[in-house]
Amino acid sequence: MIDVCLLGTGGTIPLPRRRLSATLVRVGGDLVLLDCGEGTQVALRERGWGLRRLRPILITHTHADHVLGLPGLLLSLGFSGRGSEEPLTIYGPPPLEKVLGGLLVVESRLPYPLRIVTLSTSKVFPLEGTGGIEASCTGVEHDVPCLAYSLSVPRAPRFNAERAHALGLPVTQWGQLQSGQSVQFAGRTIEPGEVLGPNRRGLRLVLVTDATLTPSIVEFVRAGGEGADLLIAEGMYGSEEDKPTRWESLHMTFAEAATLARDGDARRLWLTHYGPSLDDPSAHLGQATTVFPATVLGQDGMTQTLGFDE
Ligand SMILES: [Zn+2]
Ligand SMILES: [Zn+2]
Repeated sequence: MIDVCLLGTGGTIPLPRRRLSATLVRVGGDLVLLDCGEGTQVALRERGWGLRRLRPILITHTHADHVLGLPGLLLSLGFSGRGSEEPLTIYGPPPLEKVLGGLLVVESRLPYPLRIVTLSTSKVFPLEGTGGIEASCTGVEHDVPCLAYSLSVPRAPRFNAERAHALGLPVTQWGQLQSGQSVQFAGRTIEPGEVLGPNRRGLRLVLVTDATLTPSIVEFVRAGGEGADLLIAEGMYGSEEDKPTRWESLHMTFAEAATLARDGDARRLWLTHYGPSLDDPSAHLGQATTVFPATVLGQDGMTQTLGFDE
């Protein structure tokens, strides 16, 4: 199960009822933050899931509307009692270390270790500090190095208790087999496959923001047919006419985000990162739903729980 909350849905500048880009994901109590625009810590507190369980932060790119919330949030984590035994890992594209170094001039003495992991190519990696979330990233086209991310929560195969009983296996050994390890019992090795069912589909969440629609990003969302349970994608512009020529190649329209969802085999799409001139996103929703009906307009604070398939 994953809980997902859009902490902020604005791009470029914050507005009175629209905070800057940030998405919060909760898996088994652990919190993962994706992007951290100005004011994100206030939205985090409003969400009420606590600050202490914040594990890694993933940054798509180092434009101000995605990182300016970091210094304040990192400072508040220190005030919340986070100490030397609770390191924090921040992932992001190459300029992150330099940008963060500059931002943290205002407070360089954090009471907990900060680890910065630079991601410069497509990569699959276990997300530090979480119980088994697998992340992946790929570069997208923007005017600075920018990454799209996916978070995958695996689902354990069904445990066949009848079979375990039939083998005479004590319950104390079930957990080890459930976690994929073999056990020694009655003079022989019992392999997990003897008591576990077939692999089951997990959950996959994808975030694509500040990006051009390209075949490679469609492939990333599709992930070889796995697709995404939820795609969160930017809808900087309601329609093609709103796209300033100067920024044409840097951001997606509602229809482009919907095309990404459709061609990437997403089950649902949340639009976010609205441009500041987009007063009423609902006026343009049809641009997306004609391409991909399962499109929802993101709003600050919008939260949903994604469950495993029945
Ligand atoms: Zn942005
Ligand atoms: Zn940007």
